[in-house]
Amino acid sequence: MLGLDAKRVVVTGGSSGIGLATARWLLEAGARVAICARTESRLRDVAAGLGREFGAEHVLAAPVDVLDAAAVNAFAEQVRGAFGGLDALVNNAGQGRQSTFASTDDTAWQDEWALKLFSQITPARACEHDLRAARGAVVMVNSLLALQPEPHMVCTSAARAGVQSLLKSLSVEWAPDIRVNGIVLGLVGSGQWAKRFAERADQSVSHADWYDALARRKGIPLGRLGEPSEAAAAIGFLASPAASYITGATLDVSGGLARHI
Ligand code: NDP
Repeated sequence: MLGLDAKRVVVTGGSSGIGLATARWLLEAGARVAICARTESRLRDVAAGLGREFGAEHVLAAPVDVLDAAAVNAFAEQVRGAFGGLDALVNNAGQGRQSTFASTDDTAWQDEWALKLFSQITPARACEHDLRAARGAVVMVNSLLALQPEPHMVCTSAARAGVQSLLKSLSVEWAPDIRVNGIVLGLVGSGQWAKRFAERADQSVSHADWYDALARRKGIPLGRLGEPSEAAAAIGFLASPAASYITGATLDVSGGLARHI
């Protein structure tokens, strides 16, 4: 029904959290998936596990920093060689930065803009030709901070708003050949929150209690953090032919945290 059988998809940041859940979701739907991330050991372990589960011929992995244009181009070439083309690109790699205006220096601002924008731009450029040939799709993984900024994540919020703007422009420039959509996430219990949980002030608080308190404090209407698989389902849908008449759209995956109309 989703039409993902034998489709070829790149997922950046596919070695952990939402990217890994997305790779798994796509493989379960019948796609072939290429993942990249910087930390080679973790990437190789993850790829070997996925290969055992879904068949090694369906999984490709390469250690790539998405900010390194030469490495990203080589990865796109490798995917072309192995899969013969590309149907969808999921730009997921990245992380958030917690800082206020007072605690963000110019270098941090520049780093954050570079990460948020070029983690979208560089893979999109590298994959454009193949995506166009396949009349494919791009999915930009973004945060609700793009639309609902928070002062304690000042530069991440601003840079993420830039990604939303890019999404709209690219969805027009690349139409009708390539669909460009995105998701905005609230809080998803993956790598970033696992790290904050590990660094919690009171180490005696359990995982469940810490996450429950976080969801209450943030006022998430659905009362909990999202699962990586729930973000993956939204990404997978937008990447699939089932979303064939959707472009320039953003799917809110925040458990109701978005307050705007
Ligand atoms: P994780 O930390 O679990 O996973 C991030 C993945 O991205 C890892 O595979 C990491 O591997 C990879 N990565 C990071 N930087 C780069 C880079 N420069 N080049 C290539 N790969 C990179 O994060 P999540 O799954 O939680 O987050 C996924 C995306 O969703 C991120 O962009 C994040 O900012 C965004 N997001 C997440 C939210 C959440 O609540 N979890 C909320 C809003 C947005 P490695 O470090 O080895 O490179």
